Amino acid sequence: MRTIDHWINGTLTPATSGRSGPVFNPATGEQQAEVGFASVDDVDKAVATAAEAFLAWRKSSLSKRAQVMFNFHRLVLDNRDEIARLVSIEHGKVPSDAAGELARGIENIEFACGIPQLMKGGFSEQVSTGIDVYSIKQPLGVVAGITPFNFPAMVPMWMFANAIATGNTFILKPSEKDPSVALFLADLLKQAGLPDGVFNVVMGDKVAVDRILEHPDIQAVSFVGSTPIAKYIYSTGTANGKRVQALGGAKNHMVVLPDADIDMAADAAVSAGYGSAGERCMAISVVVAVGGIGDKLVEAISKRLPALKVGPGTDPEAEMGPLITREHRDKVASYIAGAPDEGARVVVDGRENDLPVDGYFLAPSLIDNVKPGMKAYDEEIFGPVLTVMRVDTYDDAVALINDHQYGNGTAIFTRDGGAARQFQFDIQVGMVGINVPIPVPVAYYSFGGWKASLFGDSNMYGPAGIEFYTRSKTITSRWPDPSTSSVDLGFPQTR
Ligand code: NAD
Repeated sequence: MRTIDHWINGTLTPATSGRSGPVFNPATGEQQAEVGFASVDDVDKAVATAAEAFLAWRKSSLSKRAQVMFNFHRLVLDNRDEIARLVSIEHGKVPSDAAGELARGIENIEFACGIPQLMKGGFSEQVSTGIDVYSIKQPLGVVAGITPFNFPAMVPMWMFANAIATGNTFILKPSEKDPSVALFLADLLKQAGLPDGVFNVVMGDKVAVDRILEHPDIQAVSFVGSTPIAKYIYSTGTANGKRVQALGGAKNHMVVLPDADIDMAADAAVSAGYGSAGERCMAISVVVAVGGIGDKLVEAISKRLPALKVGPGTDPEAEMGPLITREHRDKVASYIAGAPDEGARVVVDGRENDLPVDGYFLAPSLIDNVKPGMKAYDEEIFGPVLTVMRVDTYDDAVALINDHQYGNGTAIFTRDGGAARQFQFDIQVGMVGINVPIPVPVAYYSFGGWKASLFGDSNMYGPAGIEFYTRSKTITSRWPDPSTSSVDLGFPQTR
């Protein structure tokens, strides 16, 4: 059995804990590797390496850091098929979806290539006679990223591209379910000229995470994952004096107004609901049909489902793959099983399928007439299950979304520009699409939800990422000018 090690100081380094976990191929159910879990000592070793590397890396010129990012960008492009393959065999997403994930990750490397511009500070000349003030951004030191299974390439790139380019050294703790991509990227960073110790990967579970949260030499922690863990990371990390950004789960509503193009809305709902088997934090999971268009919409969506090709990533025609684990597949299926008892109607039941039984497959499902208070509505399902609810008015739709615990993404489908503009004003959600079902911001904006979808004030990547990974220093400066020199005990004032 292949073993998966840590990456510390530019070298593959076996775990010393004696603990490990299986890595499956979700399309076949076969175990394909065993990943070693970090002990406290393993994390400490990675942090010590990163702390040592920081001393030199923070002195590297901005152009040197930009060069590394440009080299890394080229290497990722040259190896994109292999990266997509690695994502596909451990996560299960089909290669076209893995390629899409990678493309959105690459944007973050491109953004970080502009680091000389992004690190510019401010300067005010002559704030007082002969006195100038300027501010500079400096890296924090050793920072860590803890990432979820569902974007094993993109989410780490959201974090480490900016963290490294701003002069920090980085410890990545990827999901133990699909850890191989992290090591592949580590090797590409080395090939790109990144000095050893600047980027490290520790594999593992709660033991590794808890040591990261308490280690006194880690200055900041970025987290993406489920809401209960995000909350824990935020409260523990901040209690230990760290800067923390912790992005959590989601329940994304897509509002369809009566004037919308029903076919366009149905295409969007199907694409955004079932893409990546619904295992996206920006997946649409609730379609809100406003003002009597529910039947038409349900019909349009259900008509499209038989044509979706579900299968393993090795099937070139497959559009949707399996779920990440058997347990998760069964949990998702339980929402379908429980829906009728709660008063909802299962229109398409994805449990009825002839997909390979050993893989963790579930075909697309559609549940109509869901309501607040039902599990299928209140909780994040994170699977290929679209739910539909009907409301009478635009105001009802807005109230419903604003009442939900999550506020990651949302979308409105309409031809009415005024209604769309009102929606963007009213809605308590961090990322809004107008006739765009998955409004993941491009890398030069920033990503972040509201409410239980984000803990802490900081969004991820883009300008917010640069802020998160740097702290500012403000310098008030005067150069000796004997003609203006005198003794003055008064409090300094502008002159
Ligand atoms: P998860 O919370 O189970 O795991 C995320 C990370 O936390 C992993 O590295 C895992 O090893 C670690 N972890 C798990 N349990 C832990 C514990 N008890 N203590 C300490 N660390 C622990 O999430 P997941 O299942 O890997 O990913 C899916 C979730 O991530 C979904 O809820 C999804 O909405 C969310 N997500 C959110 C975003 C976003 O940007 N808001 C993006 C992607 C995924």
